[in-house]
Order: sequence, then C-alpha cells, then structure tokens
Amino acid sequence: MRFLQGLDEQWLFLEAQKVKESVFGKKVFIRGVVEFSNYCREDCLYCGLRRSNRSLSRYRLSETEILDCALLGIHSGIKTIVLQSGDDLSYGTGKVAKIIRDIRKLGDVVIALSLGERNRDELEIWRESGADRYLLKMETFDRNLYAIMRPGKIFEERLKVILNAKELGYETGSGIIVGLPGQSLHSLATDILRLTDLKLEMIAVGPFIPHPDTPLKDAPPGDPLLTIRAIAILRLLNPYANIPSTTALQFFGEEWRIWGLSAGGNVVMPSLTREDVKDLYNIYPGKNKGYNYVTDLLQETVEMIRRAGAEPSFEKGYSPRGSYEKSTQK
Ligand code: SAH
Repeated sequence: MRFLQGLDEQWLFLEAQKVKESVFGKKVFIRGVVEFSNYCREDCLYCGLRRSNRSLSRYRLSETEILDCALLGIHSGIKTIVLQSGDDLSYGTGKVAKIIRDIRKLGDVVIALSLGERNRDELEIWRESGADRYLLKMETFDRNLYAIMRPGKIFEERLKVILNAKELGYETGSGIIVGLPGQSLHSLATDILRLTDLKLEMIAVGPFIPHPDTPLKDAPPGDPLLTIRAIAILRLLNPYANIPSTTALQFFGEEWRIWGLSAGGNVVMPSLTREDVKDLYNIYPGKNKGYNYVTDLLQETVEMIRRAGAEPSFEKGYSPRGSYEKSTQK
C-alpha cells in the first residue's frame, strides 16, 4: 500500500530493476501480436471493442491473412506470436487449432493465445496443437468492480479459465487494469497480492485509458506512475515472471514505456497486425497508431529498448519460474 502511494519510490524502482536483471540480465523480449478480429460478444465497459460500440467497423482476418502477419514477424526474427482478438467465437476450436499448427510450420516459434474466455476442452486441443502460452487478464480482483465493468460476467468463470490453462501446462498470464473508475488503492494492492498468489509466468499491468465510444468516456485515465509502481512491486514479488511494459503506457508518451522497462518490465509486445486493419483494433484510443508499417514499428521497438539501456532479445523467452520451482522442491 505504502509503495503504491510512492513511499521510497527510487528504492522500489532500483530494487525491481536489480531483481529483473538478476534473472533476465539486460534482455527485453520482443513478442509479436496478431490482432486478427475485433468482433466481440462481450460488453466490457472500458473496451472499445465492446459489442455495444456500433461506431466501430469490424474486421476478421482469414487464416491466410493471419499467417501472413505471423510470417512478417517471423522474418524479422520474432520467436513468439501472440494471437489476440475480441471474444469472437466464429474462430472455433478446429479453426484456431489449424492456425496454431500452420504457424508452427512457418518457423521455430512459440504461440501464445489471448482469445478471451474459452472452455477447457478447447484449451486442451489448442495446447495439443502446439500453443504454449495463454493470456487472460482478470482486469480486477475486486468482485464489485468486476461486476460493474464486465456486465453479466462471472468472476469465478474467468478465474477458472486461468486455472485451466495452468493445469493444462500452459505458461499462463493474467493481469489488471490500473485506474478503472471506482478502483481504490486498497483494491489495487489486493490485485497485486492475488496475481502473485496465482504463481503466473506472465503478468500484465496497464493503465486505464478512456475510450470515447464507451460508457467510461468521461472517466479520468489511470495514473501511469501508479502503473509503474505496480509493475515494480509485482517484479519484487514475482522475480521469474515475464512482465511487459505495456503498450497502454505509451499513450502517455514513450518515456513511460521506457520507464516501465527500467522498473522491472522485461517484455514488449508490438503489433504485427496488418496495416489496413490495425487502427480498428481499437481497445483504447491510440492503440496501434503512430506507425505506417509493421517493420517500422519493430525497428522503433528495438530502438526504444536500447534507449531504455536494455538489450532487445528475439529469444523465445520462457519464464524460468517452472524450472526454478522444480529445482527448489528437491
Ligand atoms: N478478448 C480478449 C482480449 C482483450 S484485449 C480478452 O478478454 O482477454 C486485451 C486487453 O486490453 C484486455 O485484457 C484489457 O486489459 C485491455 N484493455 C481493454 N480496454 C482497455 C482500456 N480502455 N484501457 C486500458 N486497457 C484496456
């Protein structure tokens, strides 16, 4: 709580950085995200892809188009392809399984999925098809806030997907949004502890950014400094987790993303989404803006990492958490 309030901030950031470097050195892993559909059956209050947002033109990429995006990344050296979309069930179990298998054939890459709440059987089939990672942010662990932010959705069901992914042997990721309207500092502190309890391989924390076409359009944005404090605390509590300096931090200026990499973050996740649709993956305003070609974005990402005094890495970058836990159990 006190650290979230800014107590010993310099110490916190330096210590988080030390812990990160003791595990990952100066490396920052680069993952490529293919945002293949902005259709969504959910109605999350914060998100621009919510189904009630009628002013957004919707797109779905075909399998070949998804493979083309992945290939562009692979040619640039990317070793992790993250497949992300709104909760769009038109990409059924078999279709996603085929996409996973076909991307694996393109090169020696790790596949991470971020497809929302999907059932255990699907997760199992995708795991068998070659997906190694699953990302699903809880967004908040505060049940009251959750019920408001995700109307009609059940907290336990989302949590269950995370637990299923863990059981199925995925490297599993979750996370939160900092500064959701109505979120108290106490609630954020609880989120940090709950995330840590989950023993995750990946933890993502991004600031809330109000989207003009959502009911939260007039709410104030989340505080980027508070977000970075949360990242630093999570690093101290989860030395072995892969923690991105999230794209949402960039909304406040590149210096914030650099700061995230200097306070415990060790991952960045640039978009590989095709230029003609990337702006439509508009979860918050400004997402995927500011570059014309994916290759330019990758180049900018590498330069940003160097500006942070770190070393861009195209390794697969698994979390050493699993092996660490096994070795300490002996
Ligand atoms: N449908 C998938 C992917 C969602 S988009 C799923 O539910 O997992 C990925 C992330 O974007 C979400 O998990 C959420 O944390 C973040 N996000 C959405 N709207 C946002 C906003 N307005 N500000 C900040 N982050 C947002």
